[in-house]
Amino acid sequence: LMKILQYPFQLESRECFVTASIGICLFPKDGEDVETLLKNADTALHRAKEMGRDNFHFYAQDMHDRALDRLMLEQDLRRALEQGDLELHYQPQLDLRRHRIIGVEALLRWRHPERGRIPPMLFVPLAEESGLIEIIGEWVLRTACRQATAWQVEGLPALRMAVNMSPRQFLRPGLAGTVERILRETDLEPGYLDLEITESLLMKDVESAIATMHELKAIGVRLSIDDFGTGYSSLNYLKRFPIDQLKIDKSFLREIETSRDDLAITLAMIAMAHGMGLTVIAEGVENEVQLAFLRANDCDEIQGYHIGRPVPAHEIAALLQKAPG
Ligand code: C2E
Ligand code: MG
Ligand code: MG
Repeated sequence: LMKILQYPFQLESRECFVTASIGICLFPKDGEDVETLLKNADTALHRAKEMGRDNFHFYAQDMHDRALDRLMLEQDLRRALEQGDLELHYQPQLDLRRHRIIGVEALLRWRHPERGRIPPMLFVPLAEESGLIEIIGEWVLRTACRQATAWQVEGLPALRMAVNMSPRQFLRPGLAGTVERILRETDLEPGYLDLEITESLLMKDVESAIATMHELKAIGVRLSIDDFGTGYSSLNYLKRFPIDQLKIDKSFLREIETSRDDLAITLAMIAMAHGMGLTVIAEGVENEVQLAFLRANDCDEIQGYHIGRPVPAHEIAALLQKAPG
């Protein structure tokens, strides 16, 4: 089947290519009735897609266990959303020149009733795949904006609120409308909202991503590229993205004291951002040496355990009082 599909075919006047992902299971080893066979073939299909599509995969029993595990986690995630077991923590961002905390990043936290804390790296991709991210993402956006306004009402210095966007959420039509509505509902000025998007997200569908970015800029929100340097973005595209800030990925900071390459790359990213009229924030700053390096080399802002870990909303006021760094 896959060999046949290698060749283009004609659809009206267009030439089309398709690829296939195939899940295979065998009778009677993998099931003795149609229903079981189809279900297991579907599980194998899922695996084939995970492994990069355009692929085939045979069914195996451990897949069933994994599929079941995912399914359970997905159901639990749905429940968590309904029951309020999801929470946002906020991590401070320090302006190196003004020596002041000027913003926070909202980070999603899930405390599972039996499994304890589940890291976002585990459940965010699951939510993305199941489509749940659309509801969760909207919840995150609304909760974060509401919190930013609440701090202002409490009389704290106004903070920028950075919110992570997932691909599915970002590439779905109507995002700008949703953002506008949430800003209105929560009474937050658009300039205080900073949407973090990743390079790999943008590269999934460059043209519609650029269109969405322009719509968001028209509302007045800020745009940052998260984990910069780890994706596959082409610099040709970068200059077309209407962004405000680059966020240097923490992997470059980790070995900055010993790796000449990481050091050179970090310096180049700072220079490039400034040359393009963008600000730079470095994430994952864990010690004084990294901080001093970034300050000496003109980095605008930093975020990391050295300044403060992500904390629940009520701990932010205390963090603002003691001037860090
Ligand atoms: P990210 O957006 O790059 O977030 C930064 C991650 O680095 C956070 O992990 C943060 O806790 C961690 N971090 C901060 N400072 C340091 C440091 O000094 N050293 C080290 N080693 N790590 C530090 P976290 O909270 O586990 O989040 C992981 C990822 O999950 C995020 O990466 C983001 O991609 C995703 N994520 C988190 N919340 C959301 C959300 O609300 N929506 C979406 N779509 N994704 C989210
Ligand atoms: Mg982020
Ligand atoms: Mg990041």
